[in-house]
Amino acid sequence: MAEAVERSEVIVIGAGLSGMYQLIKLRELGFKARVYEAGSDVGGTWYWNRYPGARFDSESWTYGYSFSPEVLAEWNWKEHFSSQPENLRYCNFVADKFDLRRDVTFNARAKVASWNEAAGEWEVAFEDGRRAGARFLVTAIGPLSSPTMPNNVPGIGDFKGESWHTGLWPHHPVSFANKRVAIIGTGASAVQAITEIAKTVGHLTVFQRQPNWCMPLRNSAIDDATMVAIRARYDEIFARCRDNWGCFIHTADPRNASDVSDEEREAFFEELYNTPGFAFWQGNFRDALMDKRANDYMTAFVSKKIRARVKDPKVADKLIPTNHGFGTRRVPLESGYYEVYNQTNVELVDLRETPIERVTATGIRTSDRERPFDMIIYATGFDAITGAFDRIDITGKDGAKLRDKWADGPQTYLGLNVAGFPNLLTLVGPHNAATFCNLPRCIEQNVEWVSELLAWMRAHGKTRIEATPDAEQAWTAHVYETGERLLLTKVDSWMTGVNKNVPGRQKRTFMAYAGGAPKYRQRCAEIAASGYEGFAVA
Ligand SMILES: Cc1cc2nc3c(=O)[nH]c(=O)nc-3n(C[C@H](O)[C@H](O)[C@H](O)COP(=O)(O)OP(=O)(O)OC[C@H]3O[C@@H](n4cnc5c(N)ncnc54)[C@H](O)[C@@H]3O)c2cc1C
Repeated sequence: MAEAVERSEVIVIGAGLSGMYQLIKLRELGFKARVYEAGSDVGGTWYWNRYPGARFDSESWTYGYSFSPEVLAEWNWKEHFSSQPENLRYCNFVADKFDLRRDVTFNARAKVASWNEAAGEWEVAFEDGRRAGARFLVTAIGPLSSPTMPNNVPGIGDFKGESWHTGLWPHHPVSFANKRVAIIGTGASAVQAITEIAKTVGHLTVFQRQPNWCMPLRNSAIDDATMVAIRARYDEIFARCRDNWGCFIHTADPRNASDVSDEEREAFFEELYNTPGFAFWQGNFRDALMDKRANDYMTAFVSKKIRARVKDPKVADKLIPTNHGFGTRRVPLESGYYEVYNQTNVELVDLRETPIERVTATGIRTSDRERPFDMIIYATGFDAITGAFDRIDITGKDGAKLRDKWADGPQTYLGLNVAGFPNLLTLVGPHNAATFCNLPRCIEQNVEWVSELLAWMRAHGKTRIEATPDAEQAWTAHVYETGERLLLTKVDSWMTGVNKNVPGRQKRTFMAYAGGAPKYRQRCAEIAASGYEGFAVA
């Protein structure tokens, strides 16, 4: 017998920070909403990424939800850059406080979502055969939630030892003591994991495809008095985040890098280098990520810092990127990463010199030799931004597939809807300011905008909304324009839609709205105030 269809007014897929807040808002507005989540509990990123060393790069007190005075009053952050277990506790605290789980179905992975024009609703089918239907479908499926394995590396299934992906880390403790451990990847997760694993490992081999520019995190504990002081400043902190391009606490310096003398510039860089978090990336000279010369100054400064920290100059050479300037790819934050390579039990293998040929039953064979391992860790990242969409077979009007529509890069209106896909609302989707954002700040904006839209439709007796092709085209063109001035759009990275681990993601596109969160927020507000200009509403 076919499974009964579970009906609600709004289906939300995903119970990370986006899905949790969306449920809170929909309940507040009196909508019958149901959340479906692939994992067995809430938390999203902080539920899945349990690898050693996983923690915030955002200051904890800028990351938490700002919408609830009660949560702000009751939750105490223990570190300036809080670790995954604590972040997951935070998600659970919010879920308990708002009694969210009664409206969430866990262990439900959406496989198919189809728009039924006649019924005017979305039908969603899940891996376990469950089915759900609702007028509105809100995706809260995460920008970094689709883990990828290395492409074109045969033999991964042959390995007989332990093997883990950082983004699918097991829930039980993993020991590295006396083990020969391999880690593939040197992105943000890898940098955190390598530093932590190196503290207890027998022997660690790092397989690096290309190095990234890393910055010291400079984490520290938050004592009771400091937490009281932070709490007293929450309004000011969130206001400052709101005004900044990426909603981080660090404000870009109004000067250009060449406005100052070499000595002043060096002193400024030194100050930023010693400031916790993304200060060097987000708080640098205003032209640092746009002007090649300005960027070269930062790049030279950081190279010098790496050389000073890595004892073997040949290893330092391998750790210094040569194919992109500082900050033009996601900057990992680290707490002793470079010093790991001074340990005698750590080896760096440069895959540009000796590529991996295959994984064997007992280890990894590169072009020059085979190394035996007890454990292989894949820190090979995610199919970012659009990956989670691609993993659901989404069909809109007239049989159009979202995968096909986005094959050459996303097309959206405001990063929140797609022409041909009525009543689909894509939180933290592509072409949305959220990509570059201290995410909860943009998640709150996205969720509130979507919630107001649904309330407005109900109040005006409307049941169907869809971006017009013209509005979508204009927004997509505008998104590319916002990226033009940025050096990062001239570099292969997940922000430009390139992922060497994903077939079909080799062409540069652009995934994000780069006009900054304040402008994005303003545009979204204007469109709402105009009665949803650019949308066909019926
Ligand atoms: C290791 C790591 C560290 C990070 N650190 C920071 C940071 O310091 N600051 C910052 O701003 N951002 C950070 N991020 C980005 C982070 O993803 C966001 O901060 C935030 O957690 C996103 O919340 P979300 O709810 O939108 O997505 P997610 O937290 O990814 O949640 C999406 C949920 O959707 C579920 N889902 C996806 N597809 C399906 C499906 N088909 N069916 C059912 N469920 C599905 C997933 O299981 C997941 O639980 C980090 C990301 C990673 C991976």
